[in-house]
Amino acid sequence: MADDRAHPVRPTGPDAPGLRGLWQASLVPLTVTDTGAPSRGSFDRDANLHRLATEHFDVLVVGGGITGAGVALDAASRGLRTALVERDDFASGTSSKSSKMVHGGLRYLQQNEFGLVYENLAERQRLLDNAPHLVTPLPFIIPLFGRDGVVNRNVARVYRSALWLYDLTGGVRIGHRHQNLSRDEVLAHMPTLRVDRLVAGFLYWDARADDARLTLTVVRTAADHGAVVVNHAKVVSFTHEPSGNVDGARVEPDGGEPFVIRASVVVSATGVWADQVRSLDESTQAPSIRPAKGIHVTVPASVFPCDYAAVIPVPHDHRSIFAVPWGDEVYLGTTDTAWDGPLDDPICLPEDVDYVLDAANAMVDRKVTRDDVTGIWAGLRPLLAPVAGKHAPSERTADLSRRHTVRTSPEGVVTVTGGKLTTYRKMAQDTVDEVVGRLGRRPLKCVTPDLPLHGAGPGAKSRRGRIAAVDGGGDTAGAPGSAVAAAAHLAGRYGDDTPRVLALTKDRPELLDPLVPGLPYLAVEAVYAVRHEMARDLPDVLDRRTRAVLHDAVGTANAASSVAALIAPELGWTPAQARAAARRYAAEVQRTLARAGLDRQAGAIAVPEARTKQAATTTKTAAAKAPAAKKAAAATKASPAKRAAQPTKKASPAKRTPPTRKAAPATRAPAPTPPHRSDTPEEPTP
Ligand SMILES: Cc1cc2nc3c(=O)[nH]c(=O)nc-3n(C[C@H](O)[C@H](O)[C@H](O)COP(=O)(O)OP(=O)(O)OC[C@H]3O[C@@H](n4cnc5c(N)ncnc54)[C@H](O)[C@@H]3O)c2cc1C
Repeated sequence: MADDRAHPVRPTGPDAPGLRGLWQASLVPLTVTDTGAPSRGSFDRDANLHRLATEHFDVLVVGGGITGAGVALDAASRGLRTALVERDDFASGTSSKSSKMVHGGLRYLQQNEFGLVYENLAERQRLLDNAPHLVTPLPFIIPLFGRDGVVNRNVARVYRSALWLYDLTGGVRIGHRHQNLSRDEVLAHMPTLRVDRLVAGFLYWDARADDARLTLTVVRTAADHGAVVVNHAKVVSFTHEPSGNVDGARVEPDGGEPFVIRASVVVSATGVWADQVRSLDESTQAPSIRPAKGIHVTVPASVFPCDYAAVIPVPHDHRSIFAVPWGDEVYLGTTDTAWDGPLDDPICLPEDVDYVLDAANAMVDRKVTRDDVTGIWAGLRPLLAPVAGKHAPSERTADLSRRHTVRTSPEGVVTVTGGKLTTYRKMAQDTVDEVVGRLGRRPLKCVTPDLPLHGAGPGAKSRRGRIAAVDGGGDTAGAPGSAVAAAAHLAGRYGDDTPRVLALTKDRPELLDPLVPGLPYLAVEAVYAVRHEMARDLPDVLDRRTRAVLHDAVGTANAASSVAALIAPELGWTPAQARAAARRYAAEVQRTLARAGLDRQAGAIAVPEARTKQAATTTKTAAAKAPAAKKAAAATKASPAKRAAQPTKKASPAKRTPPTRKAAPATRAPAPTPPHRSDTPEEPTP
């Protein structure tokens, strides 16, 4: 393959000064092609669908969360012919809804899970080494509260012992031992903590990653090693040899005809859906998964200031929540409650929001209210159900083990369940060991412990640099909105692919405008997502390739129309299809907020109205008559990204959907999913 980084590209165009700044400030060598084409592996969905239908594979992985991505990478990098299919988008399940920690799990020490913590910390280290562009060391504060300046001795002793153990089981490899902090040192990082109760604190280090981007990056690395991967293709049944062994699967891809993928071994890495997929193969069995819901809320950093993450005890519940700084916001979470509702639709309920806010508010002077919330997400942990006959520690899902298992059905389907984002690589290694055994191959060595992930080339930041950045004076410093900050933003998400992302802006400098007003994501990221990262719809772009909706749900929903217009030409959408996609997206975000009891936010979303045939005709006629309107329409066509950057026009109150708290008893019970397809002939679904 030709080296596509052969020649340097320099910015031109009307916005050259800002653009020049960005290019000059870029942290990576800017030698790229004009096209921005990826250099290795195929990430072309159509081509991959064709290959899936026509080739035979050693292993087919079902599920494109972090676990399936890891299995595909391990298998492909051992030289196995590997396929992966994901029914929705990569990471659309639990793997985009975690707390985003790459950690040992301090609290598991309290459950005497020393082996698990040791394994987690070893994996944390590997991720820091293999994906330095994505996985960032993160300092955590444990504030200690008490009365009259005295901390409960037992509490302090338990934390101190746990932190020593954490250091000893591998925590210290991050380059820091835990430390004691004075009251003032804690306040310097979290100024709104209750001064009447704060006594002192501890500081320790873990790491954090954008879970959805990490998952996508692992999928891309698998493709780099030859895996054939597609999203939006659901496995609906298995195929069998005459002996009864499973030898493939039938898939239904979005926008295509169903077909069969042939494979010697099928792996199910389907998280909380594992029992559903298992039922395609085996007759009814006792559930192997106990889904546990966890939610997070995002609030502005100005409301809950903290520049380090914090562990906050939940009063009257033997749990803690995290407060984690994330750009201009801080996210707070999580909860841990059994979930027996629909797996496709975990709901963040008003009481979940209150649980998190009450926990945070018990420790701070400046109270956070529901009205402060800017984003929410809810996910389901695929916890292993206690084995029948074995004693479960308690009924609480928080007490269930975070270990994983690999199991093979009588028909030969290998299922991997449980585990954590942090331990995906080890889970994958155990799974592929089993696959290799079933294939009857000589042992193939697992190479992933030292395998860099896609983008972790020489351009990725050094670990030393990243730690310095967290400490405040590192190489990513730059005023928000500045060229330096934008370059650091891209480098921290795309690593040495950053020049390829920037190459798309060569003749379109407007793509350096914000994707959603007020957020650091750039319009170019949406275009890159569709062209090179298999994004096929607005949720792929706004929920996972970028995390815009998690930071600012209202702003993101209100930008849906302009983002849809931006990606429409890439996806071949008609204007009507783009409008329908925007309406669907905004309505879904509004529904999610309403069900969480966030009425103010839900009411601030202007869901674009459906245009009936008649309305569309009227508009067309009016536009034809009005030269000004014509001009505006032409300008819109010329520069969709410009519009993406413009503040969203506020809807007139009459047009807004009214607060839905009353109208939505579904805030307490699962509500029916809204129709996913457009209901008007004018606005078909893309
Ligand atoms: C609230 C919360 C906080 C968490 N925090 C952390 C944390 O901080 N650190 C950490 O290490 N871990 C954390 N976890 C755990 C971690 O997120 C999960 O263990 C991990 O993401 C599970 O990944 P998975 O690939 O197994 O499942 P998923 O990500 O759910 O992937 C399964 C995939 O299978 C697909 N699928 C299902 N059926 C089919 C089919 N028929 N055909 C094709 N595809 C199919 C689904 O669409 C889905 O994408 C957290 C979890 C939760 C819920």
